[in-house]
Amino acid sequence: MQNQPKFRDPEWTIIKLLKWTTSFFKSHDIDSPRSTAEILLSHVLKLKRIDLYLRYDQPLCLNELSKFKVLIKRRIEREPVAYIVGVKEFWSMDLAVTKDALIPRPETECLVEAALSLLPEDKSSDVKPAPKSILELGTGSGAVILAIASMRPKHIYFASDRSVEAVRLAGQNSKRHGFDTTVSFFCADWFMPLNCGRKRFDMIISNPPYVPTRDIGRLQPEIYKYEPVSALDGDRDGLFCLRHIINTAHLYLNRNGSLLLEIGHDQKNDVRSIIDQCGNYENVVFTKDYSGYDRVVRMKKKK
Ligand code: GLN
Repeated sequence: MQNQPKFRDPEWTIIKLLKWTTSFFKSHDIDSPRSTAEILLSHVLKLKRIDLYLRYDQPLCLNELSKFKVLIKRRIEREPVAYIVGVKEFWSMDLAVTKDALIPRPETECLVEAALSLLPEDKSSDVKPAPKSILELGTGSGAVILAIASMRPKHIYFASDRSVEAVRLAGQNSKRHGFDTTVSFFCADWFMPLNCGRKRFDMIISNPPYVPTRDIGRLQPEIYKYEPVSALDGDRDGLFCLRHIINTAHLYLNRNGSLLLEIGHDQKNDVRSIIDQCGNYENVVFTKDYSGYDRVVRMKKKK
């Protein structure tokens, strides 16, 4: 069969389209209108963003134009860019994202940093410290556990999620980055399938849902219209899952084991009193995110 000729619309060059889309996005109050236009157009044309400028006067073919129009419409309806292009960068790794999991947030990199601070780098060649066993609860796209595993590949990693689709997605991301033998994913509702007292970990880590139910509708439409509510909804006070994890994790931690959690920007005092009431932890340390909010808490199991 002969190749079909591509009919190009000379009207719509890359540069003209970028200008038009930027002002269209601006008029619809879309964040970062220029870079959004660039990301979507480079996605349609399968080019790097920088290459758009090397071909700025290239006209688009009709097929490309109509694909791009669809993406513009999706963004105007507030679908997050990460879901439209299916990828989000986290800890310098490109991760596949779908509506089955939360889009990894920059502030969650603080949770990764806190974990790394407790897992010293293995520099010496002779004395090898015993590998630690690390469990992530509610892994979603796998962002947190894969970021930690990428930095400290010698430990043993487990990660679970209640959603089968999320576990599948995390598994794909793990494979994509070559961690399929380092991290084991499984489907679980928090600690449910773990046999208390049998399996213990040196570190348990989680970014659980922590938004109070009534606040969800007040988040940006990008979040409440598209991201999975089950990954955000922390029940009436936002603390339901945090409370459950804090009150249970110590039963699954080894001596000297640590629990690390991401928390909401205004939850420090509430979380501190849950930890105090539980009474099974010591060395409680809160750390701030890049915006200055107390975002991560880490604690050690009491001896
Ligand atoms: N930080 C997320 C947000 O603001 C919430 C994530 C969570 O509930 N764990 O939407």
